Amino acid sequence: MAAMVERGIVSTTGLIAHGRGEAFDYLLGEATTPEAEAAEAAAAALLSLAQRPVITVNGNAAALAARELGDLARACGAPLEVNLFHRSDRRMDLVCDFVEGETGLKVLGRDQDAVLEGIASDRARCTKEGLLSADVVLIPLEDGDRAQAMVKAGKKVISIDLNPLSRTSLAAEVAVVDEITRAVPGITAWCSRFRTRPEEARGVLAAFDNHENLGSLLQRICRGLEEGPPK
Ligand code: ATP
Repeated sequence: MAAMVERGIVSTTGLIAHGRGEAFDYLLGEATTPEAEAAEAAAAALLSLAQRPVITVNGNAAALAARELGDLARACGAPLEVNLFHRSDRRMDLVCDFVEGETGLKVLGRDQDAVLEGIASDRARCTKEGLLSADVVLIPLEDGDRAQAMVKAGKKVISIDLNPLSRTSLAAEVAVVDEITRAVPGITAWCSRFRTRPEEARGVLAAFDNHENLGSLLQRICRGLEEGPPK
């Protein structure tokens, strides 16, 4: 990640956000929990059943999991849209070029011709063809303001965020609380399964309750802390 800061892909505040993620990953045992597995299945179900799914990619997501996100985009037929918190034309080009090089896919984002209502100028910028028209949006490592604005705009939001208490996780329809490099291949595998099984996808989605799942994750963290260090 430090090397990615030097290349201009990751911002310095992105590096701090990465540290927040690592802290929660320790508390979760640095492994995909049963709650995360359930959320990954529900996320894949939502993506598989969507009319116009979109996957947003910021600097951290690009640096950590560009290839995995490309595989998921192929598996669920969603375009990748680059969306930066700290935006400049130069950084936008850098991140778009990087993601296109890693995935072999053309990304949206260079020509932002729309705005998402309810947030401050630069962060509101998006594309009409992508985010603005989407019914389901996967937002890895996103900030709470933007997540809430997407929900207000009527989008079904899937987050990938290791903090079960973040505003993003709380606002999402499906919050995947797992490290991005584990979460994305997990979602991709479920998408491949649901391609020929839409009824199963509908069942998985109907059985998923985000609030309950986050509650169960918090209990898991508390139990781990009460038990003390592993022997
Ligand atoms: P809020 O959603 O309340 O605004 P925040 O201020 O922490 O939370 P950001 O810093 O923009 O929002 O979000 C980044 C989020 O991504 C953090 O919650 C962090 O825990 C999470 N995160 C960082 N690195 C990873 C990672 N590798 N995998 C999954 N999640 C990560």
